[in-house]
Amino acid sequence: MARIPFAKQALMNLFKRPVTNKYPQVPAEIPEGYRGKIKFDADTCVGCGMCIRVCAAGSIEKKIVPKEGAQDITLTFDMGSCTFCGLCADFCPKKSIELTKEYSMITVAGENIIVSGTFEKKLPPKPDPAKIAAAKAAAAAKKAAVEKVAADGENKEEGKSK
Ligand code: SF4
Ligand code: SF4
Repeated sequence: MARIPFAKQALMNLFKRPVTNKYPQVPAEIPEGYRGKIKFDADTCVGCGMCIRVCAAGSIEKKIVPKEGAQDITLTFDMGSCTFCGLCADFCPKKSIELTKEYSMITVAGENIIVSGTFEKKLPPKPDPAKIAAAKAAAAAKKAAVEKVAADGENKEEGKSK
C-alpha cells in the first residue's frame, strides 16, 4: 500500500463528503446583489434609448414598426453578449430593467438568451392643414390691421405739423 502514491488519501476521500455543490439537484444559493438574466418591463418603458447608449457591449437593440397614429417599439436584450454590468438598469429613468438572480441560461436554440418586450407608443395627432392655413390668414390680417393703424397715426401727426 505504501508503494502506491496517495493510496491512503484516495481511500480516505472515498468516505468524505464531496466539497463541490450538488447543482443541479440542489439549487445554488444566490448572494444579494447578484446580477443575472435581465427582466424587461415593456409596460413602463418609454423608448428613450438611454439603456442603448450606456450599453458598452451593444447588447440592446430597438426596433420601431410604424403604424397608424402610433409605433410598435420592441427592445431586445441579447444575454449572449451582455456582460451583466447593470448600467442599463441603473440609467433607465423608468426602472423598466432589472437584473434578476437567474443565472441558468443554458440553451441550444438561443431563445433562452434573448429577452425582449414590445409596447405601443402613441404619436401626437397630425396638424390639420386647413386649420394651419386659417391661422396663418388670421395672423396676416391682424398684422395688416396693426400696420394700417400705425400708418394712419403717422399721417395724422404729419397733418398737424403742417
Ligand atoms: S428600458 Fe428604460 S432606458 Fe431603455 S428605452 Fe425603456 S425607458 Fe428608456
Ligand atoms: S447589463 Fe450591461 S452589458 Fe448587459 S445589456 Fe445592460 S448595459 Fe448592456
